[in-house]
Amino acid sequence: MNNHLHHEERGLAADVKQTTSVAAEKCYQCGKCSAGCPVASEMDLPPSLVMRMLQTNRPENDEKLLRSKTIWLCLSCEMCISRCPMSIDIPKVMDFLRRRSRDEGKVTDRAKDIVAFHDSFLLSVEKTGKLYELGLIAAYKMKTLHLMQDVTVAPEMIQKGKLHFIPEMVKNRKNIAQIFKKTIKAKN
Ligand code: SF4
Ligand code: SF4
Repeated sequence: MNNHLHHEERGLAADVKQTTSVAAEKCYQCGKCSAGCPVASEMDLPPSLVMRMLQTNRPENDEKLLRSKTIWLCLSCEMCISRCPMSIDIPKVMDFLRRRSRDEGKVTDRAKDIVAFHDSFLLSVEKTGKLYELGLIAAYKMKTLHLMQDVTVAPEMIQKGKLHFIPEMVKNRKNIAQIFKKTIKAKN
């Protein structure tokens, strides 16, 4: 009955390829992306596993990806691309998966705060038009994840060459706090 599907690319991996031009099959699972990702330890599926799951072409894995917390945690910092021997654009894949997850109503409850921020952030950009996008998103995600309960966590991450945008973020902490306040107000 499913003969017509044999030997065809299908499912998420095919859609990813069509939309983003990223070929999941090129990943050979060296694991360098996961080793370098600053938020991998918080993820339910580290980036190399995301690529592996796409390769399987299994509907149950597609489902897990769309319902994962990982896609909402990715900071788009591009550390993975810079380390990947195949230059696989994982953040682009994550972005695609976020959109698909939303479209299909599969956003996990575990990422509720982050998703709410994505929405209010967009609203806030429209209003102020001058936000440091990446730093701000990172700030919020960190806050949400309680990774930044204490700012002393930051210097170590900077030293490791991760999260190069943190200094900017720390410098602007006051501003960020105000923006959060405004953002939350705007949302309510
Ligand atoms: S670094 Fe590239 S090739 Fe290696 S596991 Fe990650 S995506 Fe795959
Ligand atoms: S872009 Fe996303 S997946 Fe890649 S290293 Fe950064 S946070 Fe991790």
